[in-house]
Amino acid sequence: MSPESAGPHGVDVAIVGGGAAGVLVATRLLADPACRLRVAIIEPAAELARGAAYATQQPAHLLNVTAGRMSAFAEDPGHFVRFLSNGDAGAAEALSSSFVPRREYGRYLRETLRAQPRHPALQWLRERATDIERRAGDNLLTLASGATLAARAVVLAVGNAPRRIPAARLHGDMRLADAWDYAGVAAIPAEADVCIVGSGLSMVDAVLSLVHGGHRGRIRVLSRHGLMPLAHAATGGADSAPIDALLALDLRERLRLVRAWTRAASEAGEPWQWVFDRLRPHGQALWRSLGHAEQQRFLRHLVRHWDIHRHRIAPQVAQVLEALRADGRLDAVAGRLQSVEARADGGHGIRYRPRHGDGEEVIGADWLINATGVETHIDLQPDTLFGALRARGRVLPGPHGIGIASEEPGRVLDARGRPDPGLFVLGAMRIGTLWESLAIPELRGQARALSDHLRATFAEPVAPTA
Ligand SMILES: Cc1cc2nc3c(=O)[nH]c(=O)nc-3n(C[C@H](O)[C@H](O)[C@H](O)COP(=O)(O)OP(=O)(O)OC[C@H]3O[C@@H](n4cnc5c(N)ncnc54)[C@H](O)[C@@H]3O)c2cc1C
Repeated sequence: MSPESAGPHGVDVAIVGGGAAGVLVATRLLADPACRLRVAIIEPAAELARGAAYATQQPAHLLNVTAGRMSAFAEDPGHFVRFLSNGDAGAAEALSSSFVPRREYGRYLRETLRAQPRHPALQWLRERATDIERRAGDNLLTLASGATLAARAVVLAVGNAPRRIPAARLHGDMRLADAWDYAGVAAIPAEADVCIVGSGLSMVDAVLSLVHGGHRGRIRVLSRHGLMPLAHAATGGADSAPIDALLALDLRERLRLVRAWTRAASEAGEPWQWVFDRLRPHGQALWRSLGHAEQQRFLRHLVRHWDIHRHRIAPQVAQVLEALRADGRLDAVAGRLQSVEARADGGHGIRYRPRHGDGEEVIGADWLINATGVETHIDLQPDTLFGALRARGRVLPGPHGIGIASEEPGRVLDARGRPDPGLFVLGAMRIGTLWESLAIPELRGQARALSDHLRATFAEPVAPTA
C-alpha cells in the first residue's frame, strides 16, 4: 500500500509505529468485515513491517527461529510456512524447520495485512509522531510535519530504539556505523580492521554483512562479558517444562534446577537447548513470579547468560562465526568500553577496562560498529515521542526503569500510575513488566488481546473531530 499525506482526519485507532507489532495490530483490526473502526498507521519508513529486524535485504540475515514458529497467528501455526511454500506441501514440511531470510518475514507481514477484508480502509501516514496530547477525551497526535490527527485510542508500537554509544565517550571524527544501518555496515572497506561494540544478535548481523561483502580485515568484538550467542540444536523433545516446580523457587534455586535439567538432558543424549526451548513459553511467568529484588539480581548477574541461551542463532550462522574464530579473524574481548579516540590515520583507539585485570587496554581499529542493541530506558531517549509523553505525565518508566509501566491488555499507566483509557502499548516497551515481550510469539499474542479490547471498547464510531 502507498502512504497518504498527513491530514487532520479523525480516526478511532491510531497505531504509532508500523513495524511488525503495529502491522499485527492493524491486521487483527482489519480482519472483520463487520467492524467499522477507522484505523491509521503512522510510520515514517518507506515500507511497513520492516523495523530494525526485517528491513535488512541481506539474504544471510536469517530469522533466529525456524519458520514453523513465526506465524502471525497463534491459532494458525502453519500460516507463515504456507505463505513461503506457496501451497507446495512437500516444500512446506522442509521450510517449517528452516531458518529463512528475515526480509521474507517483512514481505509476509505486508502481504498478510494486504489480504485483510478491510485493508482498503487503512490510512497510512508516512510520518513520525512527536507528541500525543489528551484533549476533550480524545488523543491529539502531533506529527513531525506539524500536521495533527485526532484519535479515540492510540497504540504505541514503537519497538526497538537503537542504543547509542554516549557522545562523551567518542573523541574526534568517527568512522562509526550502526549495526542496524545495513547499507552502512556493508559499505565498510574489505581491508578495514573493525571493532564491534556489543556481542548480541546485531553483532552477528554485522559480521555476516562484512563476510558477505568479502571482508578480509580483523574483527574484534568488545562486550562486558565477552560471551557470544549460542546456536540452536535440531528441534525436538517434549513441549513443556515442569514450570510449577521452577516458579516456586527463588532465583538461585531456579538456576540450580535448570542446571540439573541440562545435566540430565546431556546424560540422556539430548541437547541442552531443549531445556531452554521448554522454558521459552514461560518467560513472562518466570519473570513475573520473581520479586522486585530478585528481578534486579537477575538483571545484574544473570541477564547476559540468559540471553545467550535464550536468543540463539541458526546453526549455519554459528558455523560462520566459528570458522572466523578458528582462522583468527574474529575474536571476543571481555571489557567495558571507556572511550574511543580518533587516530591521525583516520582509525580509532578503542580504550576499554578488561573484565579480568586492572587498568585499561586499547584495541586499534579502522572502523567501529555500534551493536549495543535496544535502548529500553525512555529517559535515555529524550528526543523521542517518550520525552513529550513524559513531560505531559502520560507515561511512567516501567519496573527497573525499563520500558513504560503498563497493565493488561497493554493499557499505559500515567505518571501517577493510573490506567489511561485511550493509550495502549505493545512490544519492547512492555519489557519491564513482562520481560519476554520482543519476539513474534509475544507480539502476536499482545496484538490479538489488544485488538479484541479495542474492538469491544471503541466499536461505536464517533464523527470525525477535525
Ligand atoms: C536484528 C533483529 C533481529 C530479530 N530477529 C527476530 C526473529 O528472528 N524472530 C523474532 O521473533 N523476533 C526477532 N526480533 C525481535 C523483533 O524485535 C520483533 O520480531 C519485531 O521486529 C519487533 O517489532 P516492533 O514493531 O515491536 O518494533 P520495530 O521493528 O522496532 O518497529 C517499530 C517501528 O516504529 C516506528 N516508530 C518508532 N517511533 C515512531 C514514532 N514516534 N512515530 C512513528 N513511527 C515510529 C519505527 O520507524 C519502526 O518501524 C529481532 C530483532 C532485531 C532487532
